[in-house]
Amino acid sequence: MNKLKLNYNLSKNSWFGLGGNARKFFTPDNEQELADYILKNNSEKYYMIGSGSNILFRDKGCKETIIKLGRGFRSIEIKNNKIICGAAVLKNQLSIFALDNEITNYEFLSCIPGTIGGGIIMNAGCFGYEFKDIVDEVKGISKKNFKLISYNKSDIKFLYRKTIFPDDLLITKVIFNINFGSSEKIREKIEIFKKKKETAQPSRIRTGGSTFKNPDSKNKAWELIQKSGCDKVNFGSAKFSKIHCNFIENQGNSSADIEKLINFTIDEVKKKFNIILEPEIKIIGEK
Ligand SMILES: Cc1cc2nc3c(=O)[nH]c(=O)nc-3n(C[C@H](O)[C@H](O)[C@H](O)COP(=O)(O)OP(=O)(O)OC[C@H]3O[C@@H](n4cnc5c(N)ncnc54)[C@H](O)[C@@H]3O)c2cc1C
Repeated sequence: MNKLKLNYNLSKNSWFGLGGNARKFFTPDNEQELADYILKNNSEKYYMIGSGSNILFRDKGCKETIIKLGRGFRSIEIKNNKIICGAAVLKNQLSIFALDNEITNYEFLSCIPGTIGGGIIMNAGCFGYEFKDIVDEVKGISKKNFKLISYNKSDIKFLYRKTIFPDDLLITKVIFNINFGSSEKIREKIEIFKKKKETAQPSRIRTGGSTFKNPDSKNKAWELIQKSGCDKVNFGSAKFSKIHCNFIENQGNSSADIEKLINFTIDEVKKKFNIILEPEIKIIGEK
């Protein structure tokens, strides 16, 4: 398979189903290929993606090379009482792997889309669990010197939907801790979480999940969206979901409409409550 594609349309790599073309789209299958590519093309700007469940690609596409880890990064195994997991493994796959091996605390991963790499960068979480609770070590290629680097959990700052490494890295592998539990209880917890998600959030829509972070423990983004009246506003076919008004639904073909709704909401909430909403969604590409 050709690992470097030119003028590659990005819409299939975003849960919004939107986006123009990337000039270059690279899918390495191992760390050496990834390191060689960024070293050889070190004047090029690049952007790593997982499964694009938290990304809005702009309609005009992007000049950056988009890097998406290939099949070689999808293995999961247990070694020395740790889970060794490729960064392109899907969260749900890791949750099933944990269930099969009677490992607990991975149940929440059954409810969050996307890859392990994306989950680490976002410190993704739900129902009181986050990546920070299960991670032991993160490995990847340093963006500074293109070398393989490894960070222990104590070197990493896990914040609310954000993770800070001492040096930015392209994550290739994650080592997770193991706590054994009973498969019956693990299965039960997965079912409870999935049911909760189904009632609280829309499914089968084209979305990027929560559009904004909650500003603080007192102010929830969805409440501010509702109180400001933005939940009733639409730009073209971009509008907030009726089931969860921090989720934007795409029913059309325009990233620009979604971005307009995001910016409009930030302005309205600032005007009405003097609170600045910070997008959780990453917006990538040419304006
Ligand atoms: C329906 C729906 C429900 C959701 N529910 C939740 C939820 O309950 N909780 C929650 O926290 N989030 C939720 N999300 C948001 C999203 O799924 C998470 O943030 C997820 O972790 C993103 O993973 P991804 O692989 O899709 O990453 P992407 O969206 O592709 O990327 C996200 C970020 O990670 C970076 N990145 C990805 N892979 C790597 C890598 N290997 N190395 C370096 N950087 C990388 C990207 O550059 C980008 O900055 C939801 C989204 C949707 C669409």
